[in-house]
Amino acid sequence: MKAAVIYEFGPPDVLKIEDAAPPKPTEGEVLVRVHAVRVGGLLDIGTRAGRNPFAQLAFPHILGADFAGDVVEEGEGVGGLKAGDRVAVSPFVACGKCPACRAGRDYGCPSAHLIGVHRPGSYAELVSVPAKVVRRIPSAVSYEQAAAMALSGPVAFTQFSVVGLKPGDWVLVTAAASGLGLVTSLVAKALGARVITTSRKDWKREMLQKRGFDAVLDTDDETFANQVGELTGGQGVAFAIDNTSSATMFPKVSAALGRLGVIVSSGAQVAEPVPLDLRSLYLKSQSIVGIRTHTQKALDGFWQLAGNGLETLVDRTFPLDDVGDAHRYVEAEKNFGRVLLKI
Ligand SMILES: [Zn+2]
Repeated sequence: MKAAVIYEFGPPDVLKIEDAAPPKPTEGEVLVRVHAVRVGGLLDIGTRAGRNPFAQLAFPHILGADFAGDVVEEGEGVGGLKAGDRVAVSPFVACGKCPACRAGRDYGCPSAHLIGVHRPGSYAELVSVPAKVVRRIPSAVSYEQAAAMALSGPVAFTQFSVVGLKPGDWVLVTAAASGLGLVTSLVAKALGARVITTSRKDWKREMLQKRGFDAVLDTDDETFANQVGELTGGQGVAFAIDNTSSATMFPKVSAALGRLGVIVSSGAQVAEPVPLDLRSLYLKSQSIVGIRTHTQKALDGFWQLAGNGLETLVDRTFPLDDVGDAHRYVEAEKNFGRVLLKI
């Protein structure tokens, strides 16, 4: 089978198109013919460049985390999936045995491993993966859309399940024009929330305006907190999803948060310590929660929701032969929406 293989960490040139031996599914795994793979920042670019702190991989290695395709063959002990099923695959494989997993909070699993990082990924015609992270996709969802949402959709669904989002609640999503931010905003809307999205770039706010959110704001605008106050009748938002971990962004998010409000972080794109005034937190009975990724349960919940017409933005697709160009494109941050490999 054709695959993009790396023998070392380095620039996009380390990705080599080769003929590799097709994998066989072992117990609990399914073999999937890959149709579309998301090219992401940390799991793809970061792992290739040797910057991913979670990456412990053996060379030669095949990258490729979240993807969509068809089931070709089931290994022993796999129920509920059969050859020909159209599926989406999330890369996060929790152990299923630790206290976090047993409590149904597998996003906190300390021994989880990642497809495309700790085991061979989907930059290939075929890949064998644990069946527990494979879900059938609704017939209305294309392979491209499925790959674009296969990880971020369940993560967003987990965030809103954990905090108990109800229809009508106000939600603020920062950096909503990012791949994760846009899917998070769309999931909030699909769950019936009133959604305020933000971006600091004019052209990205213009793109967000077309997606039907309740408001699109600029956090750099001095009147940002007042604008949120006006929109929410002086209450502030119930939930703020801030995956930036930015010292300048955090105080603005805090100022927009209402009483009993919750700030959720499932990422740290800027990755700097943020200033936190605990007086405001306790006086308004607010909380901050970190959610590393998704639960197994959220895979079911999200794909059910996605059947109602959830659709994110695919910026551009590349053939597998041009995988190096796809990495350069994502690295240059030229995209609005997802970048995919089509195989
Ligand atoms: Zn576990």
